Amino acid sequence: MLSMHPSASELVVHDDAIRENTARFSAMTEGRIMAVLKADAFGHGEIARSVLESGATSVGVTSVDEALALRATGVGAPILSWLNTPDADFETAVRENVDLAVPSVELLWSIGRAALRVGRPARVHLHLDVGMARDGCSTRDWSTLCTLAREHEALGAVRVVGVMGHLSCADEPEHPQNARERLVFESAVRTARRRALAPRILHLAATAATLNGVGSGFDVHRIGAGLFGIDPSSRTDVLRPAVTLTSSVVSSREVAAGTGVGYGLDFVAQNRTNLALLPVGYGDGLPREASGRAEVFARGRRRPLVGRFSMDMVVVDTGDDVLRPNERVTVFGPGAQGEPTVTEWAEWSRTIEHEIVTRLGNRSPRIHRTIETSSPSQGDRS
Ligand SMILES: *Cc1c(COP(=O)(O)O)cnc(C)c1O
Repeated sequence: MLSMHPSASELVVHDDAIRENTARFSAMTEGRIMAVLKADAFGHGEIARSVLESGATSVGVTSVDEALALRATGVGAPILSWLNTPDADFETAVRENVDLAVPSVELLWSIGRAALRVGRPARVHLHLDVGMARDGCSTRDWSTLCTLAREHEALGAVRVVGVMGHLSCADEPEHPQNARERLVFESAVRTARRRALAPRILHLAATAATLNGVGSGFDVHRIGAGLFGIDPSSRTDVLRPAVTLTSSVVSSREVAAGTGVGYGLDFVAQNRTNLALLPVGYGDGLPREASGRAEVFARGRRRPLVGRFSMDMVVVDTGDDVLRPNERVTVFGPGAQGEPTVTEWAEWSRTIEHEIVTRLGNRSPRIHRTIETSSPSQGDRS
């Protein structure tokens, strides 16, 4: 917490944890990490430099806009953008050396035309749908896409540098679909080569497939969740969570037994108790679904949040303790002090950890985000 005037709620991003996680994946893959920084780095903000200094050699995002935003902050490493509509700003992308995924003939044409206007070939990764029918080119259209991509290469419009796929069931390593999708991917790469393409960068694995090995053996691993301490298959405990959310008490009140709390009076106090009000709610990204289950950490102990979450506030039952205004409460963190973790919040919200951290991102100016840098020279800034 470097800020001199901490906001009422603060999301602290643990830069040292992100660096350690990145280095771990880098070691696991012999330095072949593409850091996936989509959705504002899964809600963690400007951490591109940290991951690039810790072993990541390239960056992956969804939209061209995200890629250009990273270029604008001075990221010089290769950046791949894999999800765009045909009217995206491919001209600027080519000018700024952004690699582009090509999932369809239509996108190949859009990108090719933009590159010819710029006067330099676009670096592209052909994107295959290996099995989840979401993004990427269907296996049915793959051969045509390869043929047309080769023609675009001959025109100087594109250069096919990579082929990518994304596994549907990687968080279940025993699932037979993993082997099937791997074969689909390998067969598609052979097709591309038969069409005289020479992709050097093949990539199939994300976090889960890298941790459990089902997507290993290719040139690059696209790692998102793992950088932030999230293991989608919950099988490892080597990763370090990278965020702490705290909030400050606005006020406290004592209530009598039988008092209902919040909209609908869903919670009714069984005994006389004290309630503390925190200025953070579902408008800031705390899932309303967690109402009635979630806890926070206040004055050394777990305490239940009671009543339905409001848009801007939640209520903590503090029992006999009377929290003072401004007293700091931890909503979630790495768990080392006993505070709830993002994993627990995901369970209380019946969702996955990814959603908890991304929705907190830049959602509300009421949540101030700071990055605790691990390097002392940067720690002096405030
Ligand atoms: C989000 C995403 C990733 C990163 O996945 P994680 O499980 O977070 O590592 C990789 N590839 C694609 C295509 C994605 O959309």
